[in-house]
Amino acid sequence: MSREPLLRLTSAGLYCSRGGFHIDPWNPVACAVVTHAHGDHAVRGSRKYLAAESGSLILQHRMGPRAQIQTLPFGQAIDLDGVQVSLHPAGHILGSSQVRVEHKGEVWVVSGDYKVAPDTTCAAFEPVKCHTFITESTFGHPNYHWEPQSVTFAEIHDWWRDNQAQDRASLLYAYSLGKAQRLLAGLDSGIGPIHAHPSVEEMNVFYRQSGIDLPATRSPKGEMSPSEWSRSLILMPPASRWEKGLHFHGHYSTAFASGWMVLPGEPAKRGVERGFALSDHADYSELLAAIAATEAERVLVTHGYIDEFVATLKSRGYDAAPHKSFRCKRPPRVPE
Ligand SMILES: [Zn+2]
Repeated sequence: MSREPLLRLTSAGLYCSRGGFHIDPWNPVACAVVTHAHGDHAVRGSRKYLAAESGSLILQHRMGPRAQIQTLPFGQAIDLDGVQVSLHPAGHILGSSQVRVEHKGEVWVVSGDYKVAPDTTCAAFEPVKCHTFITESTFGHPNYHWEPQSVTFAEIHDWWRDNQAQDRASLLYAYSLGKAQRLLAGLDSGIGPIHAHPSVEEMNVFYRQSGIDLPATRSPKGEMSPSEWSRSLILMPPASRWEKGLHFHGHYSTAFASGWMVLPGEPAKRGVERGFALSDHADYSELLAAIAATEAERVLVTHGYIDEFVATLKSRGYDAAPHKSFRCKRPPRVPE
């Protein structure tokens, strides 16, 4: 006799009918458990949200002031119609969580986006034991391997110093929620002044209000002497590459910080001179290690290299299957 799985995909997204809630739905629903505030996981309009306490300021900002958001500290369970739900750190951005769902001894965990590399701006990824693990696979291909972040930060610092020596500012493009703050926390502010584009600074403020220690930043829109310009590193959101008015102070060099930059030719494709492969997702081997740590019998794969990663998992003896919807047929090309 087949029975309905604890979580299943519906037209609104991943749904738990026993508990009456969705996880990261892409349409408004009655109760949305949200793993994190990125736009492909959190949408406006649901009647009620459940999310991690540490990311509540950012989620409230993104969902709007009228959104009803209930928060949970990591590890604390709540009962939703007989289903136990708890949130556990995913290490992706501030407040990012994995969702653990338990019913009559059966445990599922939904990873959301996750990374295992250290990041002082959010709680570290925590392996959660379960029977079924739904994993993302953004970088679930052997092409993707991250160097230790100390190596990547050293490359960024060298690029910054080299630009200073050539009297040009360093414009570093990075996703404004999560990546920019991780960069800010890891950059050596002794090298020179750090500026943040207003949309990056908006997120910096929420991080600081949430208790995350970030160095002071200035706005690149204000008055700047030629010598300050050429010593500065400026954190910019990717879309601002086409903005007018921020480049008028003098010469500059451009770079992009993203996992996709590990691919040759990617910086040129994005219209920048340099790429730094710093990702807020696990790389291929990190995904495999994280999955092994869950001790899951069954692994469902979503968001990214779904078919390739399912094949990898099957070849390693897992009961693996794609967990596809029209929303996640291809690797996302967002710069994270
Ligand atoms: Zn994300």
